[in-house]
Amino acid sequence: MPPAWRVDVVTTFPESFEGFLEVSLLGKARAAGTIDIRVHNLRDWAEPPHRVTDDYAYGGGPGMVLKPEPIVAAVEDLRGSDGWVGLLTPQGRPLTQRRVAALAARRHLILICGRYEGVDERVRTLVVDEEISVGDYVLSGGEVAAMVVIDAAARLVPGVVGDAGSLVGESHADGRLSHPQFTRSEEFRGQRVPSVLLSGHHERIERWRRAQALHRTVRRRPDLLENCALSDEDHQLMDEFPPWDA
Ligand code: SAM
Repeated sequence: MPPAWRVDVVTTFPESFEGFLEVSLLGKARAAGTIDIRVHNLRDWAEPPHRVTDDYAYGGGPGMVLKPEPIVAAVEDLRGSDGWVGLLTPQGRPLTQRRVAALAARRHLILICGRYEGVDERVRTLVVDEEISVGDYVLSGGEVAAMVVIDAAARLVPGVVGDAGSLVGESHADGRLSHPQFTRSEEFRGQRVPSVLLSGHHERIERWRRAQALHRTVRRRPDLLENCALSDEDHQLMDEFPPWDA
């Protein structure tokens, strides 16, 4: 059976992805053939003998710009019938969990990593479907940003996370933060695990967790609630269970 999700990454630093693709969920999902992630060296599409991928900026100024010819050639080779092309750039659409879910639902992504001053603008106009930003700050290259996209989206591809239940109620899955987590020991440095979690009363635990998730969202990220207002039931739950660390 073909993998459910394929990603081709085009980069001038393919070695950055070593390790990242081999461990934990991604490593296992790749070994099982659930996902197929291929990292390509942009230089393979650059003109021999020197295989130069960057050049000075027209108009002057410091720093180099990635040339359009090798990137467009790489995309044309890799795109096939279903490739969707994302360019990592701080000028792109900010990545959210909703966008991540949309990327996980695509069969085949091609991610282009920029470097230096960025990528010749004609790459965007000729072959890019969407520009993706991982946040309002500037990284030195698109590799870490591509890893963020791959890591966040892969875990939403069916079969990658062993227990799909662990995706339910996660922070940002439904526009809210998740509840606090505790593990053994029952008491640590004078702080006890909230007693409800030790009660074995599953329905009450579930209600407590929902209430804590709501308190947390109100306190830390009230902006998330602008599009997802609290219901009367949410307010009742928060009154019934105050913040555990109040
Ligand atoms: N001169 C560019 C600008 O001011 O918009 C920044 C170039 S940055 C130093 C080099 C590369 O890192 C970019 O081409 C892009 O691929 C990647 N990058 C940097 N910040 C990023 C972000 N927040 N999200 C996604 N990619 C980013």
